[in-house]
Amino acid sequence: DRVKVAVVFGGRSSEHAISCVSAGSVLTHLDPERFEAVPVGITPHGAWVVGPSDPVRLAISGRELPEVDGTAEALVLPGEPGRGLVRLDAREALTSVDVVFPILHGAFGEDGTIQGLLEMAGLPYVGAGVLASAVGMDKEFAKKLLRAEGLNVADGVVLRPGTDIGFADRDRLGLPLFVKPARAGSSMGVTRVTDPAALDAAVAEARRHDPKVLVEAAVPGREIECAVLEFPDGSVRASLPAELRYNGEFYDFESKYLDTSELQIPAKLDDEITESLRWKAITAFRALDVQGLARVDFFVTDDGDITVNEVNTMPGFTPSSAFPKMWAVTGLDYSELLSTMVDTALARGTGLR
Ligand code: ATP
Ligand code: MG
Ligand code: MG
Ligand code: MG
Repeated sequence: DRVKVAVVFGGRSSEHAISCVSAGSVLTHLDPERFEAVPVGITPHGAWVVGPSDPVRLAISGRELPEVDGTAEALVLPGEPGRGLVRLDAREALTSVDVVFPILHGAFGEDGTIQGLLEMAGLPYVGAGVLASAVGMDKEFAKKLLRAEGLNVADGVVLRPGTDIGFADRDRLGLPLFVKPARAGSSMGVTRVTDPAALDAAVAEARRHDPKVLVEAAVPGREIECAVLEFPDGSVRASLPAELRYNGEFYDFESKYLDTSELQIPAKLDDEITESLRWKAITAFRALDVQGLARVDFFVTDDGDITVNEVNTMPGFTPSSAFPKMWAVTGLDYSELLSTMVDTALARGTGLR
C-alpha cells in the first residue's frame, strides 16, 4: 500500500505564497508509486482546506503569487492517477494520513507550532521537531546556540518591542547594517542600511513582520548555502555547497523568486574550505538539535573565514530553490530526496527520542 502523505502548505505567515510554490514542486516530485499525496492548504487566515491540488496553480506566473483559496469548494482531492477527481471529507483526509509533510515557511509552520500540534496528535511529520523549529525560526536564540558551539555569527543587537538601538552599539556595528525581523524568512522585512538616517525606517519595516528586530553588522564574503539531510538510519550528511549569485545589494525577495539570480553548484571554493563548510553545516544542525533537514546559510571570505548566517529548518522547495538543487548535484534527485525525507519522518515517529 502506498504511504498517505498530507502535504500541508500556505499558512498564516508572510511566506504564504512561497510555501504554495514549494508545495507545487513537492506535489509534482513525490514518487506516485510510493506515496499518495493529500494536499492540504491553509489560507492566510488559518482555515484548513483540502486542496487545491493542481501544482500548476501553485506556481508563480509572471509576478503573480499564488494563494490558498478558502472560499472555493475546496474539498477536492486528486484520486488515483488517471481516475480524475475524488471528493472527500476534509476531516477524514486528515485523520487517515500516515505522515505529514508541513511544507510551510515562517510563523505557524516552520516555528514549532504545527510540529507541536502533530506531536500531540501522534502523527509523524517531515522535518525538525518543536525545539529546533522554534529556535531555527528565532534568529536571536539560534545565534546564541551557534556561537556556543564555536561557530562564527554576525555581531548584532536585538531590539525588543519598544526598544531602540543605543549609540555604543551603533558605533561598534558601523555601516552598512542589516536590519531584519527576528522570526521571518524569504528576506521579508530585511533592509541593508548604509545611511544612519535610514535606520529608523528599516527598524519600522522589520517590525511589520516581527516586533522583535535584529540589527547586525554587515558580514563580508560570498553567500554560500549547504543542505543537510538526515537519513532513516539516523545518519546525517551535508550536500555540496551552492553559491548564490544575484543582482543588487543583497539576496532580497526579488532576487530569490522574481529575478534572474543564479546558483552555482558546487560553489567554487578550495576543497579545504568546502570540507570545513560542510562540517560546519552539520555542526550547526547539531547545535540546534535539528531533525530531518536544514539549509544552513553562510558568508565565506576569500581568506576562508566562514560565518553562519542562519539555519532554515524548512527551506524553500520552489523550482528555483537551492535545497533540492544541491542534493541533485550531490547525487540525490528531487524524488529520491522527498522519499528520504518522508522515510526519515516515518522512522523517527513522534515523542521523545
Ligand atoms: P531565507 O529566505 O534564507 O530564510 P531570511 O529572511 O531568513 O532568508 P537572512 O538569510 O537572514 O533572511 O537574510 C537575507 C539576506 O540578507 C541574506 O541572504 C544576505 O544577502 C543579507 N544579509 C542578512 N544579514 C546579513 C549580514 N549580517 N551581513 C551581510 N548580509 C546579510
Ligand atoms: Mg531564513
Ligand atoms: Mg527561510
Ligand atoms: Mg537566509
